[in-house]
Amino acid sequence: MRQSGYNHRMLPELQLKDRLRLRKPHPCGGYEWTVVRLGADIGLECDTCKRRVILTRRELARRLKTILARPAADLESSD
Ligand SMILES: [Zn+2]
Repeated sequence: MRQSGYNHRMLPELQLKDRLRLRKPHPCGGYEWTVVRLGADIGLECDTCKRRVILTRRELARRLKTILARPAADLESSD
């Protein structure tokens, strides 16, 4: 699992379904989010309450703490 911090101004390359941890919790208490939309702005869904927010790339770069491990593409089967 990658746990390195990121430069404030730089938003790393994101993919849909990436899971992120932000510096401050959502009001529901959740820290972890899933990327649900990529574009000029980034859509995130709270993993805890499933609410969605849209952040500009700049805002997200400031709030982002960590990108959590991506679902392993080479994972055989997990059911
Ligand atoms: Zn939430």
